Amino acid sequence: MRLEKVILDGFKSFADKTEFVFSAAVTGIVGPNGCGKSNVVDAVKWVFGEQSAKSLRSGRMTDIIFSGNASRKPAGCAEVSLFLSNTAGTESGRLPIDADEVQITRRIYQSGDSEYRINNKLCRLKDVRELFMDTGVGVRAYSIIEQGQVERLLSASSVERRVIFEEAAGISKYKAHKEEALRELDRTEQNLLRLADIVSEVASRLRSVKLAAGKARSYVQYTQRLKELQVNYSLAEFDKIYKTAAQKKAALDEAEKNFAVSAAEVARHDALLGEIGQQIIDTENNINCTDNSLVAVQSKIEQQMQRIEFLRTRIKELEQRKAAAV
Ligand code: ATP
Repeated sequence: MRLEKVILDGFKSFADKTEFVFSAAVTGIVGPNGCGKSNVVDAVKWVFGEQSAKSLRSGRMTDIIFSGNASRKPAGCAEVSLFLSNTAGTESGRLPIDADEVQITRRIYQSGDSEYRINNKLCRLKDVRELFMDTGVGVRAYSIIEQGQVERLLSASSVERRVIFEEAAGISKYKAHKEEALRELDRTEQNLLRLADIVSEVASRLRSVKLAAGKARSYVQYTQRLKELQVNYSLAEFDKIYKTAAQKKAALDEAEKNFAVSAAEVARHDALLGEIGQQIIDTENNINCTDNSLVAVQSKIEQQMQRIEFLRTRIKELEQRKAAAV
Protein backbone atom coordinates (compact mmCIF):
# COMPACT_ATOMS: atom_id res chain seq x y z
CA MET A 1 0.00 0.00 0.00
CA ARG A 2 1.39 3.38 -1.04
CA LEU A 3 -0.05 6.86 -1.39
CA GLU A 4 0.18 7.60 -5.10
CA LYS A 5 -1.96 10.64 -5.65
CA VAL A 6 -3.89 13.35 -3.80
CA ILE A 7 -6.51 15.52 -5.51
CA LEU A 8 -7.71 18.65 -3.71
CA ASP A 9 -10.68 20.69 -4.88
CA GLY A 10 -11.90 23.75 -2.93
CA PHE A 11 -9.77 22.70 0.08
CA LYS A 12 -8.23 25.68 1.93
CA SER A 13 -5.92 27.58 -0.48
CA PHE A 14 -6.59 25.07 -3.31
CA ALA A 15 -9.58 26.73 -4.96
CA ASP A 16 -9.06 24.83 -8.23
CA LYS A 17 -8.78 21.11 -8.65
CA THR A 18 -5.10 20.36 -7.88
CA GLU A 19 -3.40 17.00 -8.31
CA PHE A 20 -0.27 15.83 -6.44
CA VAL A 21 1.28 12.68 -7.90
CA PHE A 22 3.80 10.87 -5.67
CA SER A 23 5.55 8.73 -8.28
CA ALA A 24 8.88 8.33 -6.49
CA ALA A 25 9.37 6.49 -3.22
CA VAL A 26 10.52 9.69 -1.53
CA THR A 27 8.75 12.91 -2.47
CA GLY A 28 9.18 16.35 -1.00
CA ILE A 29 6.95 19.37 -1.48
CA VAL A 30 8.86 22.63 -1.45
CA GLY A 31 7.63 26.17 -1.76
CA PRO A 32 7.68 29.59 -0.16
CA ASN A 33 6.13 30.21 3.20
CA GLY A 34 2.36 30.23 3.13
CA CYS A 35 2.07 28.58 -0.29
CA GLY A 36 0.02 25.69 1.12
CA LYS A 37 2.46 22.82 1.90
CA SER A 38 0.94 22.08 5.29
CA ASN A 39 -2.52 22.33 3.72
CA VAL A 40 -1.69 19.18 1.73
CA VAL A 41 -0.88 17.30 4.96
CA ASP A 42 -4.08 18.70 6.50
CA ALA A 43 -5.97 17.41 3.48
CA VAL A 44 -4.58 13.88 3.96
CA LYS A 45 -5.41 13.93 7.70
CA TRP A 46 -8.88 15.26 6.92
CA VAL A 47 -9.67 12.40 4.52
CA PHE A 48 -8.67 9.89 7.20
CA GLY A 49 -11.44 11.37 9.33
CA GLU A 50 -9.91 14.20 11.36
CA GLN A 51 -12.76 15.62 13.44
CA SER A 52 -10.87 18.41 15.20
CA ALA A 53 -10.97 21.70 13.27
CA LYS A 54 -8.22 22.95 15.58
CA SER A 55 -5.93 20.10 14.53
CA LEU A 56 -6.48 21.28 10.95
CA ARG A 57 -5.55 24.80 12.04
CA SER A 58 -9.08 26.11 11.53
CA GLY A 59 -11.81 27.59 13.73
CA ARG A 60 -14.74 25.53 12.46
CA MET A 61 -14.70 22.50 10.20
CA THR A 62 -16.34 24.47 7.35
CA ASP A 63 -13.39 26.93 7.47
CA ILE A 64 -11.39 24.39 5.44
CA ILE A 65 -13.57 25.27 2.42
CA PHE A 66 -11.83 27.80 0.15
CA SER A 67 -12.95 31.13 1.64
CA GLY A 68 -12.49 33.23 -1.50
CA ASN A 69 -10.24 36.15 -2.26
CA ALA A 70 -10.36 39.48 -4.08
CA SER A 71 -10.79 37.79 -7.47
CA ARG A 72 -12.72 34.60 -6.55
CA LYS A 73 -15.93 33.78 -4.76
CA PRO A 74 -15.82 31.24 -1.88
CA ALA A 75 -16.32 27.59 -2.88
CA GLY A 76 -19.59 25.77 -2.08
CA CYS A 77 -17.80 22.64 -0.89
CA ALA A 78 -14.37 21.09 -0.42
CA GLU A 79 -13.35 17.65 -1.64
CA VAL A 80 -10.15 15.67 -1.25
CA SER A 81 -9.39 12.24 -2.71
CA LEU A 82 -6.48 9.96 -1.82
CA PHE A 83 -5.39 7.24 -4.24
CA LEU A 84 -3.49 4.29 -2.74
CA SER A 85 -1.97 1.38 -4.61
CA ASN A 86 -3.17 -1.90 -3.16
CA THR A 87 -1.52 -4.59 -5.26
CA ALA A 88 -0.66 -7.92 -3.62
CA GLY A 89 2.83 -8.47 -2.22
CA THR A 90 3.68 -4.86 -1.43
CA GLU A 91 6.03 -4.42 1.50
CA SER A 92 3.74 -2.24 3.55
CA GLY A 93 0.83 -4.64 3.51
CA ARG A 94 -2.47 -4.64 1.74
CA LEU A 95 -5.77 -3.06 2.67
CA PRO A 96 -8.56 -5.59 3.26
CA ILE A 97 -10.43 -4.65 0.09
CA ASP A 98 -10.57 -6.46 -3.23
CA ALA A 99 -9.11 -3.74 -5.50
CA ASP A 100 -5.63 -2.89 -6.82
CA GLU A 101 -6.22 0.81 -6.23
CA VAL A 102 -8.19 2.30 -3.36
CA GLN A 103 -9.68 5.77 -3.59
CA ILE A 104 -10.79 7.45 -0.37
CA THR A 105 -12.81 10.66 -0.73
CA ARG A 106 -14.23 13.11 1.78
CA ARG A 107 -16.44 16.07 0.91
CA ILE A 108 -17.86 18.82 3.09
CA TYR A 109 -20.55 21.38 2.24
CA GLN A 110 -21.03 24.90 3.62
CA SER A 111 -23.96 23.47 5.66
CA GLY A 112 -21.45 21.33 7.56
CA ASP A 113 -22.71 18.06 6.03
CA SER A 114 -19.85 15.73 5.32
CA GLU A 115 -19.67 12.51 3.28
CA TYR A 116 -17.12 9.74 2.81
CA ARG A 117 -16.61 7.40 -0.13
CA ILE A 118 -14.44 4.34 -0.60
CA ASN A 119 -13.88 3.64 -4.31
CA ASN A 120 -16.72 6.06 -5.07
CA LYS A 121 -19.23 4.23 -2.87
CA LEU A 122 -20.79 6.22 -0.04
CA CYS A 123 -19.73 4.90 3.35
CA ARG A 124 -19.37 5.88 7.01
CA LEU A 125 -16.32 7.35 8.74
CA LYS A 126 -16.22 4.09 10.73
CA ASP A 127 -15.67 2.14 7.47
CA VAL A 128 -12.71 4.37 6.55
CA ARG A 129 -11.20 3.99 10.03
CA GLU A 130 -11.61 0.21 10.03
CA LEU A 131 -10.06 -0.07 6.57
CA PHE A 132 -6.83 1.53 7.79
CA MET A 133 -6.73 0.11 11.30
CA ASP A 134 -3.35 -1.45 12.22
CA THR A 135 -1.74 -0.18 8.99
CA GLY A 136 -0.06 2.74 10.73
CA VAL A 137 -2.15 5.06 8.54
CA GLY A 138 -4.72 7.32 10.13
CA VAL A 139 -5.32 10.56 11.96
CA ARG A 140 -3.65 9.46 15.21
CA ALA A 141 -1.27 6.91 13.63
CA TYR A 142 2.47 7.28 13.24
CA SER A 143 2.54 7.59 9.44
CA ILE A 144 1.65 11.30 9.53
CA ILE A 145 4.20 13.23 11.53
CA GLU A 146 3.55 16.95 11.59
CA GLN A 147 5.80 19.87 12.50
CA GLY A 148 6.88 19.59 16.14
CA GLN A 149 5.43 16.11 16.55
CA VAL A 150 8.81 14.33 16.88
CA GLU A 151 9.61 16.40 19.96
CA ARG A 152 6.12 15.70 21.32
CA LEU A 153 6.67 11.95 20.71
CA LEU A 154 9.98 11.92 22.55
CA SER A 155 8.51 13.71 25.52
CA ALA A 156 5.23 11.69 25.42
CA SER A 157 4.06 9.75 28.43
CA SER A 158 4.34 5.96 28.51
CA VAL A 159 0.55 5.72 27.97
CA GLU A 160 0.69 7.91 24.82
CA ARG A 161 3.68 5.98 23.50
CA ARG A 162 1.92 2.69 24.14
CA VAL A 163 -0.88 3.79 21.75
CA ILE A 164 1.70 4.28 18.99
CA PHE A 165 3.35 0.90 19.63
CA GLU A 166 0.02 -0.87 19.69
CA GLU A 167 -0.88 0.61 16.29
CA ALA A 168 2.51 -0.49 14.93
CA ALA A 169 2.12 -3.98 16.41
CA GLY A 170 -1.28 -4.32 14.74
CA ILE A 171 -3.31 -4.79 17.88
CA SER A 172 -5.23 -1.51 17.67
CA LYS A 173 -7.89 -3.18 15.59
CA TYR A 174 -8.43 -5.90 18.22
CA LYS A 175 -8.35 -3.31 20.97
CA ALA A 176 -10.96 -1.25 19.13
CA HIS A 177 -13.03 -4.38 18.56
CA LYS A 178 -12.64 -5.29 22.25
CA GLU A 179 -13.79 -1.81 23.28
CA GLU A 180 -16.71 -2.05 20.87
CA ALA A 181 -17.55 -5.52 22.24
CA LEU A 182 -17.32 -4.22 25.85
CA ARG A 183 -19.59 -1.30 24.94
CA GLU A 184 -21.97 -3.78 23.31
CA LEU A 185 -21.78 -6.00 26.44
CA ASP A 186 -22.52 -2.99 28.59
CA ARG A 187 -25.47 -2.05 26.37
CA THR A 188 -26.70 -5.68 26.50
CA GLU A 189 -26.41 -5.72 30.32
CA GLN A 190 -28.37 -2.47 30.49
CA ASN A 191 -30.95 -3.99 28.16
CA LEU A 192 -31.08 -7.14 30.36
CA LEU A 193 -31.69 -4.97 33.44
CA ARG A 194 -34.43 -3.11 31.62
CA LEU A 195 -35.86 -6.44 30.43
CA ALA A 196 -35.85 -7.81 34.03
CA ASP A 197 -37.75 -4.69 35.12
CA ILE A 198 -40.19 -5.15 32.26
CA VAL A 199 -40.61 -8.88 33.08
CA SER A 200 -41.45 -8.15 36.76
CA GLU A 201 -43.78 -5.35 35.66
CA VAL A 202 -45.43 -7.63 33.12
CA ALA A 203 -45.74 -10.47 35.71
CA SER A 204 -47.51 -8.14 38.15
CA ARG A 205 -49.86 -7.03 35.38
CA LEU A 206 -50.42 -10.58 34.14
CA ARG A 207 -52.82 -11.41 37.04
CA SER A 208 -55.03 -8.43 36.39
CA VAL A 209 -54.84 -9.19 32.68
CA LYS A 210 -55.98 -12.79 33.44
CA LEU A 211 -58.90 -11.44 35.48
CA ALA A 212 -59.72 -9.06 32.68
CA ALA A 213 -59.46 -11.97 30.21
CA GLY A 214 -61.96 -14.00 32.35
CA LYS A 215 -64.32 -11.04 32.36
CA ALA A 216 -63.83 -10.63 28.65
CA ARG A 217 -64.68 -14.33 28.09
CA SER A 218 -67.87 -13.97 30.20
CA TYR A 219 -68.68 -10.82 28.32
CA VAL A 220 -68.30 -12.68 25.02
CA GLN A 221 -70.56 -15.55 26.26
CA TYR A 222 -73.23 -13.17 27.58
CA THR A 223 -73.04 -11.13 24.43
CA GLN A 224 -73.55 -14.34 22.41
CA ARG A 225 -76.55 -15.33 24.55
CA LEU A 226 -77.95 -11.78 24.30
CA LYS A 227 -77.65 -11.98 20.53
CA GLU A 228 -79.56 -15.33 20.48
CA LEU A 229 -82.31 -13.88 22.65
CA GLN A 230 -82.48 -10.75 20.52
CA VAL A 231 -82.76 -12.90 17.38
CA ASN A 232 -85.55 -15.05 18.92
CA TYR A 233 -87.38 -11.96 20.13
CA SER A 234 -87.03 -10.34 16.71
CA LEU A 235 -88.34 -13.52 15.01
CA ALA A 236 -91.37 -13.65 17.35
CA GLU A 237 -92.00 -9.94 16.77
CA PHE A 238 -91.67 -10.47 13.04
CA ASP A 239 -94.18 -13.36 13.14
CA LYS A 240 -96.64 -11.21 15.11
CA ILE A 241 -96.23 -8.24 12.81
CA TYR A 242 -96.50 -10.53 9.75
CA LYS A 243 -99.83 -11.96 10.96
CA THR A 244 -101.18 -8.50 11.85
CA ALA A 245 -100.09 -7.26 8.45
CA ALA A 246 -101.94 -10.17 6.76
CA GLN A 247 -105.12 -9.34 8.74
CA LYS A 248 -104.81 -5.68 7.90
CA LYS A 249 -104.25 -6.59 4.26
CA ALA A 250 -107.48 -8.66 4.22
CA ALA A 251 -109.35 -5.78 5.89
CA LEU A 252 -107.89 -3.38 3.37
CA ASP A 253 -109.00 -5.62 0.47
CA GLU A 254 -112.52 -5.75 1.96
CA ALA A 255 -112.53 -1.96 2.44
CA GLU A 256 -111.34 -1.49 -1.14
CA LYS A 257 -114.19 -3.71 -2.38
CA ASN A 258 -116.72 -1.73 -0.32
CA PHE A 259 -115.19 1.46 -1.58
CA ALA A 260 -115.63 0.27 -5.19
CA VAL A 261 -119.32 -0.56 -4.52
CA SER A 262 -119.88 2.81 -2.79
CA ALA A 263 -118.09 4.61 -5.62
CA ALA A 264 -120.46 2.93 -8.18
CA GLU A 265 -123.44 3.94 -6.02
CA VAL A 266 -122.16 7.52 -5.79
CA ALA A 267 -121.69 7.59 -9.60
CA ARG A 268 -125.28 6.35 -10.09
CA HIS A 269 -126.61 8.98 -7.68
CA ASP A 270 -124.52 11.62 -9.42
CA ALA A 271 -126.12 10.67 -12.76
CA LEU A 272 -129.60 10.75 -11.12
CA LEU A 273 -128.81 14.12 -9.61
CA GLY A 274 -127.83 15.37 -13.06
CA GLU A 275 -131.16 14.20 -14.50
CA ILE A 276 -133.15 15.82 -11.64
CA GLY A 277 -131.18 19.05 -12.07
CA GLN A 278 -132.11 19.06 -15.79
CA GLN A 279 -135.76 18.42 -14.90
CA ILE A 280 -135.65 21.35 -12.46
CA ILE A 281 -134.21 23.61 -15.19
CA ASP A 282 -136.92 22.45 -17.65
CA THR A 283 -139.67 23.01 -15.02
CA GLU A 284 -138.27 26.47 -14.26
CA ASN A 285 -138.35 27.27 -17.99
CA ASN A 286 -142.00 26.10 -18.18
CA ILE A 287 -142.91 28.23 -15.14
CA ASN A 288 -141.30 31.24 -16.81
CA CYS A 289 -143.27 30.63 -20.01
CA THR A 290 -146.51 30.22 -18.02
CA ASP A 291 -145.76 33.44 -16.09
CA ASN A 292 -145.32 35.29 -19.39
CA SER A 293 -148.65 33.87 -20.71
CA LEU A 294 -150.38 34.84 -17.45
CA VAL A 295 -149.12 38.41 -17.72
CA ALA A 296 -150.43 38.58 -21.33
CA VAL A 297 -153.84 37.14 -20.29
CA GLN A 298 -154.04 39.56 -17.32
CA SER A 299 -153.25 42.43 -19.69
CA LYS A 300 -156.03 41.27 -22.07
CA ILE A 301 -158.50 40.94 -19.15
CA GLU A 302 -157.54 44.46 -18.09
CA GLN A 303 -158.23 45.75 -21.59
CA GLN A 304 -161.59 43.90 -21.77
CA MET A 305 -162.56 45.28 -18.33
CA GLN A 306 -161.83 48.81 -19.51
CA ARG A 307 -163.87 48.11 -22.67
CA ILE A 308 -166.76 46.79 -20.59
CA GLU A 309 -166.58 49.90 -18.37
CA PHE A 310 -166.62 52.12 -21.45
CA LEU A 311 -169.54 50.27 -22.96
CA ARG A 312 -171.46 50.47 -19.66
CA THR A 313 -170.94 54.22 -19.53
CA ARG A 314 -172.03 54.47 -23.22
CA ILE A 315 -175.20 52.42 -22.55
CA LYS A 316 -176.03 54.64 -19.55
CA GLU A 317 -175.56 57.72 -21.73
CA LEU A 318 -177.73 56.34 -24.54
CA GLU A 319 -180.54 55.40 -22.07
CA GLN A 320 -180.43 58.94 -20.63
CA ARG A 321 -180.66 60.38 -24.18
CA LYS A 322 -183.52 57.93 -24.98
CA ALA A 323 -185.40 58.96 -21.84
CA ALA A 324 -184.88 62.58 -22.66
CA ALA A 325 -186.08 61.94 -26.19
CA VAL A 326 -189.38 60.22 -25.10
P1 ATP B 1 4.86 27.46 6.07
O1 ATP B 1 5.97 27.11 5.14
O2 ATP B 1 4.98 28.83 6.63
O3 ATP B 1 4.53 26.43 7.08
P2 ATP B 1 2.83 26.48 4.27
O4 ATP B 1 3.38 26.42 2.86
O5 ATP B 1 2.75 25.23 5.01
O6 ATP B 1 3.54 27.62 5.12
P3 ATP B 1 0.07 26.59 4.73
O7 ATP B 1 0.08 26.83 6.20
O8 ATP B 1 -0.18 25.25 4.23
O9 ATP B 1 1.42 27.16 4.11
O10 ATP B 1 -0.97 27.55 4.01
C1 ATP B 1 -1.38 28.73 4.58
C2 ATP B 1 -2.16 29.48 3.51
O11 ATP B 1 -3.40 28.83 3.28
C3 ATP B 1 -2.47 30.88 3.98
O12 ATP B 1 -2.16 31.77 2.92
C4 ATP B 1 -3.94 30.90 4.21
O13 ATP B 1 -4.51 32.15 3.84
C5 ATP B 1 -4.37 29.84 3.23
N1 ATP B 1 -5.67 29.30 3.68
C6 ATP B 1 -5.94 28.60 4.79
N2 ATP B 1 -7.25 28.30 4.84
C7 ATP B 1 -7.82 28.83 3.75
C8 ATP B 1 -9.17 28.88 3.23
N3 ATP B 1 -10.17 28.30 3.85
N4 ATP B 1 -9.39 29.52 2.07
C9 ATP B 1 -8.40 30.12 1.41
N5 ATP B 1 -7.12 30.10 1.83
C10 ATP B 1 -6.82 29.48 2.99
